[in-house]
Amino acid sequence: MFFKYIVVGAGLSGSVISERIARVLGEAVLVIEKRGHIGGNCYDERNRHGIILHRYGPHLFHTDDEEVFSYLSQFTEWDIYQHRVLALIDGRKVPVPFNFTSMDILFPEALSKRVQEILLNHYEIGIRVPVLDLLNHQNEEVRFVARYVYEKVFLGYTIKQWGKRPEEIDPSVIARVPIVIGKDDRYFHDRYQCVPRYGYTELIRRMLDHPKIKLLLNTDFREIGRLQNGKVYVFDREFHGTLIYTGPIDELFDYCFGPLPYRSLKFDFEELEIPWFQEVATVNYPNDYNFTRITEFKHIHTVESKRTVILKEYPKDYEILKDVPCYPIFTTEARRSYEAYESLLRSFPLIIPLGRLAEYRYYDMDDAVARALRVFREKFHNA
Ligand code: FAD
Ligand code: UDP
Repeated sequence: MFFKYIVVGAGLSGSVISERIARVLGEAVLVIEKRGHIGGNCYDERNRHGIILHRYGPHLFHTDDEEVFSYLSQFTEWDIYQHRVLALIDGRKVPVPFNFTSMDILFPEALSKRVQEILLNHYEIGIRVPVLDLLNHQNEEVRFVARYVYEKVFLGYTIKQWGKRPEEIDPSVIARVPIVIGKDDRYFHDRYQCVPRYGYTELIRRMLDHPKIKLLLNTDFREIGRLQNGKVYVFDREFHGTLIYTGPIDELFDYCFGPLPYRSLKFDFEELEIPWFQEVATVNYPNDYNFTRITEFKHIHTVESKRTVILKEYPKDYEILKDVPCYPIFTTEARRSYEAYESLLRSFPLIIPLGRLAEYRYYDMDDAVARALRVFREKFHNA
């Protein structure tokens, strides 16, 4: 088969763009994936008891993007699932994002009520406010509560997760988990919150199940391709088509501007001979243990089983080519290196970087899908 398009990476980004090229343009696509499975970090699988496990950490789909939701709905039925998280604070499990219920559990009633009243005078009910904003609130009691939340919910967790204090990392990261003005205890507030009925791997398998898509698993692009003088060579022959690259951008260029920093995780799964382990899918441990959170998968995809499986996530430094690059660390230096890679890319007009690793962004799944659909439209469909 002759391929005008090669896609490196069969994660969500690579799979969406491959599906669009095959289905809409009717062109053949070669997808190259270094792992032994599709799905990238969204990969999930059923264990022998029918419990769906997310191999690279808990993945909860949520979006406000109508286009993304209807696009994905072509490949899956959904089960409604609204993620709820508790955090162990001073020996009590309280809702996170921190809300009025959390406040009622942890503070004396009179103080809690006063602070809630002040917040309701300032903000509309349901609004989500970054904790860093409340630290400078004009009211002293609000500042006191915000300081407590900062120290008990964010400080320990962030130091474990990133090896840095909250003020040392990009504010957008902390703002993902705000303080909620009200009692809404859902982790996300998007319009669509659900999980693919048969899992993410099955959803992505259906995307890639097209006669024009050829998938090569267990194949690292670096084994079959190389870049030289603005040209792309595949199997030692010059490639004249389009290469869509969804792997780490620094790796593509042999780290010539230095490695981009990432944080990684060690995933520790435990199968337990009890029907349930905890009250909700995820419990965060900001101040205790070396792991950040425990997720129990049966809460996400319900299944009848006398056993349960939990996952503990241990953050760690990222070792190049050994660990999973989980989270980009947005330092000024990292942004500068990324820009250097971006400008180098301009001398390779046939290469399009796409996705969390190639664009060095903290994309959620819906962001990754939205981005792939946009790139497809802008580069290929309306061109
Ligand atoms: P990836 O999934 O990383 O896929 C890239 C693919 O390229 C991989 O399969 C990789 O093996 C392959 N590849 C790389 N280099 C090469 C090479 N040289 N040759 C061949 N193949 C290569 N999002 C949410 O919306 N909700 C969540 O709850 C959520 N939880 C998350 C939890 C964790 C711990 C992590 C790490 C991410 C989470 N995400 C979540 C984000 C989600 O995983 C990403 O948005 C999504 O996986 C991005 O897809 P991608 O295709 O861009 O990247
Ligand atoms: N965070 C925290 N305490 C919590 C939950 C989150 O300090 O109980 C901070 C932490 O810095 C984390 C960031 O908020 O990295 C984003 O959290 P999120 O749950 O969105 O992370 P992800 O699910 O992407 O790992």
